[in-house]
Amino acid sequence: MEHRHKVFPIQVIVPHTSNPNSFRLNESGLHSVLGHSAIANKKVVIVSVAGATRKGKSFLLNFFLEYLYALQNSQQNDIQLEWLDEAVQLQGFHWRSGAKRDTVGIWLWGEPIMIEAANGEKYAIVLMDCQGITLENAQSSNQCSSIFALSTLLSCIQCYNIVDVIQEDSLQNLSLFVEYGRLFLNEAQQFGKPFQNLVFMVRDHKSPEEFPFGAEGGEAYFEQVLENCPDSLEELKVVKDNLRECFEQIFCYLLPHPGQKVADRNSFKGYVKDIRPMFREEVKKMISSLLNPHAIKPKIVNGKEVTCKKMIEYIRECARLFYKNDNPAPRSILNAHAQLLCIESAIEAKTAYCRGMDRATSAPRMLSEKKLLEAHIKHGITALNIYDKCPKIGSGEVRTENLARLQEDINAELEKYKRFNEAKRVNSCASAMLACGDSVLF
Ligand code: GDP
Repeated sequence: MEHRHKVFPIQVIVPHTSNPNSFRLNESGLHSVLGHSAIANKKVVIVSVAGATRKGKSFLLNFFLEYLYALQNSQQNDIQLEWLDEAVQLQGFHWRSGAKRDTVGIWLWGEPIMIEAANGEKYAIVLMDCQGITLENAQSSNQCSSIFALSTLLSCIQCYNIVDVIQEDSLQNLSLFVEYGRLFLNEAQQFGKPFQNLVFMVRDHKSPEEFPFGAEGGEAYFEQVLENCPDSLEELKVVKDNLRECFEQIFCYLLPHPGQKVADRNSFKGYVKDIRPMFREEVKKMISSLLNPHAIKPKIVNGKEVTCKKMIEYIRECARLFYKNDNPAPRSILNAHAQLLCIESAIEAKTAYCRGMDRATSAPRMLSEKKLLEAHIKHGITALNIYDKCPKIGSGEVRTENLARLQEDINAELEKYKRFNEAKRVNSCASAMLACGDSVLF
């Protein structure tokens, strides 16, 4: 447990100083969280909390940390885990060493927490805090929806933190990725749904007699929100009609007020005993139902479960999309996914080519130029066939560009094999001459 006190959140998506509406990826920060060789092949579960600023996201994430570390330390698949002792002081996401709390961006907990899922496999759970989203301010609405959309793409559990009631603008914020989701469902249906879990976390819920706290009350409440949602605004109608198709699961939890001590910023020091017991109980139920070893599922991209190593590539590709000022068009998001598929297939294709050529040129004797070219054509065709099996999503342009790059790569490899083959001629001559010389000497 002590070890965790040395861990901090790390900002991985950082706004540019000159233009706060555009973001850059903090590569070294990302590597420090996901780049260790020991976890490279472990599947990753990204849990994000997003929503307006100063609405208790970090506070709640500290409960997530408590639960996950307790689960990690318990070394067993125990759903009845005892956690959140009264004496505990919540900490973790409040420590933003050096950086201002208002900084817009995405923060990751400094290390993945390794949890054994019910199937016996160890997953790397990474908590993500999306900060600085000010929904009230029209100027920053771009920023807000970019961070929100980016964190939804990256996570497999997106927790949408909302205070009091789910209003129309909260749903409107979902429109970018619902638009993308529709495109994905049309053009990449072989991969299933585009997103995994969306969790509405409604804080300070005020009418428990109508909708009780917790998941069941939340479900009924969410149904009602969708029902009452007006069809007059096209954007909202699209969200309403398509949200359920885009996510594998949607949950809604209604949480009580945490008590005056928590709401009073100055006096609250994070002690669990100072938090209203009813809030503690509801949060405990919510977190253990979302993150228990039976519930956690790895992040899926293009239909495949993602490892920590692959997640780095995925985050890089998604961050590139949001690098520019505006929100990316849904088609660009789809193309980014196509790009990942193409890169993966091109690597596989090139590896197959090189393996074949290595075998063909493995003899110590030089190959004739004709034989070398025959091998090149044979293994080149194998490589192109492998590339051609790449699932076809997004625009053909992405596939064509990557095919051209693959062909260039293969031609560059061929040049290497030619040089390697030529070197054998020189070696053969040298040894022949040596042999000749030797015979003269004797
Ligand atoms: P963030 O900016 O969304 O991460 O918000 P913080 O977690 O920093 O919390 C902002 C303030 O709200 C802090 O003073 C918290 O103690 C307080 N707070 C946390 N959770 C709740 C809640 O559920 N209801 C209310 N009313 N206040 C909360």
